[in-house]
Amino acid sequence: MVSNQQGREAAKNTIELIASENIVSDAVRAAQGSVLTNKYAEGYPGRRYYGGCQYIDQVEQLAIDYAKKLFNCKYANVQPHSGSQANMAVYNALLNPGDKILGMGMDAGGHLTHGSKVNFSGKVFHSYSYSLNLETEELDYDEIKKAAEEVRPKLIIAGASAYSRVIDWEAFRAIADDVHAYLMVDMAHIAGLVATGAHPSPLPYADVVTTTTHKTLRGPRGGMILSNNLELGKKINSAVFPGTQGGPLEHVIAAKAQAFYEDLQPQFTDYINQVVKNAAAMADEFTKNGANIRVVSGGTDNHLMIIDITKTGLTGKDAQNLLDSVNITTNKESIPGDKRSPFVTSGLRLGTPAITSRGFSEKDAREVADLISKILNNSTDEATIAEVKKAVQELTAKHPIN
Ligand code: PLP
Repeated sequence: MVSNQQGREAAKNTIELIASENIVSDAVRAAQGSVLTNKYAEGYPGRRYYGGCQYIDQVEQLAIDYAKKLFNCKYANVQPHSGSQANMAVYNALLNPGDKILGMGMDAGGHLTHGSKVNFSGKVFHSYSYSLNLETEELDYDEIKKAAEEVRPKLIIAGASAYSRVIDWEAFRAIADDVHAYLMVDMAHIAGLVATGAHPSPLPYADVVTTTTHKTLRGPRGGMILSNNLELGKKINSAVFPGTQGGPLEHVIAAKAQAFYEDLQPQFTDYINQVVKNAAAMADEFTKNGANIRVVSGGTDNHLMIIDITKTGLTGKDAQNLLDSVNITTNKESIPGDKRSPFVTSGLRLGTPAITSRGFSEKDAREVADLISKILNNSTDEATIAEVKKAVQELTAKHPIN
């Protein structure tokens, strides 16, 4: 059995570059490990199906109030167990089985729940996808408009799991209006940036916004739904419970409240600004290091980047394994127009939320890019591998975590 201690040691000694991961505060962990896990509380604050919810109600209301303040919106549902559950509840509220949806394809950086054929979203609904412009490697709003006019979906989904540029919510709103579709924005990856103003907010434009709470928001693993439309909010509440979930995870909701409180502090804005600076520094360093590693779309505006490693002779899968062997954690990722399967890929996705939480500066981020460049360009050289592993140990020791 792997112990908690072993897990902690591994995290301490590893450079964590998975863009969807982070390191939460001790207070978030304490809330999530609290006695609130013992309680059933089907329903919503003040309207429960179980007795004994007086403290639970306070906790959930606090999470709702902090969420509304953080995103400057009128409605929040903090009960979704995950980002996928949040999306499922929204579809349940807005659509009927068989309705048409249009979302970003997974090959372009969209999420499974945006209409992938292996996911409920592609099985229950008729799903269609839009992609990237292969020249700019960015979203092409004219093409998305064309796709929307052709498909006439009932719902358009904007937002991504692997896209490094600013998304133009206003353009999506205009497209949705053009075809009389609802617009849902899934801001799971960039929610922390939206909360602090480092990325424009989708809330003035979208009918409904979903997010996870464990990525750049630096909270517990979970989901959330936001809107400014209170009538829609009523439908969404019913779609979450009893529509798609039973008892809410009130210990996780307490941890969400704690995280949102932390996100409202000025230090969190400093943190997110550093996340963005670190990503920009890393992308710049890869570009300076030469053509073998190419940053998709030429850079990043947010917390992540995709690198095309085709010229190193490695696949994304090989590179992920090689980096694992020196304690750098990444995930393989398709590049735009990738000829390889999603299990192999020609790229990697790299993000800076977790390393920034442990205090990495732009200089450190550049060193990380240098280490990755070095090992991917000399993947069979034992001396290089040992040298990189040692440098990772030094860098992680410089920025300890609990
Ligand atoms: N939406 C986006 C854009 C995501 O990137 C993810 C997860 O990576 C999700 C939804 C799903 O979140 P969860 O893993 O909590 O179901």
